[in-house]
Amino acid sequence: MAIERTLSIIKPDAVAKNVIGQIYSRFETAGLKIAAAKLVHLSRADAEQFYAVHAARPFFKDLVEFMISGPVMITALEGENAILKNRELMGATDPKKAEAGTIRADFADSIDANAVHGSDAAETAAVEIAFFFPGMNVYAR
Ligand code: UDP
Repeated sequence: MAIERTLSIIKPDAVAKNVIGQIYSRFETAGLKIAAAKLVHLSRADAEQFYAVHAARPFFKDLVEFMISGPVMITALEGENAILKNRELMGATDPKKAEAGTIRADFADSIDANAVHGSDAAETAAVEIAFFFPGMNVYAR
């Protein structure tokens, strides 16, 4: 079976809290490998394009402002069922609803500043990985 990849972003709030290492440790403990990574300060154009699917939502403008408010850690994670595994590690979008022990329950402050992004399906993972790591595929050999 092909090994899957997913895109993770440690958002500006979590980078500012200095918890990149603690979040990476959770990925590694769950059996996910860091396949590619970069710390970047997104441009407005990049943030708008990345979240284009949410362009019509009322929170879009604030989401873009938040995502460009400081550096983010962008990572391609690799492993069996990486997409679902990462979503489980992350917890619900709203940290108040996230299960105890998930990244968002432990590190996020609100539904807007919610510590991490993770691709939600193979189709989005393919697009998101290629957006930040051109030439990289959603499936590893
Ligand atoms: N978001 C927000 N307000 C909302 C819903 C979402 O600010 O009411 C932001 C939040 O940062 C979230 C992102 O928009 O992570 C994308 O939303 P989605 O529903 O795709 O959640 P996710 O897949 O990140 O759990």
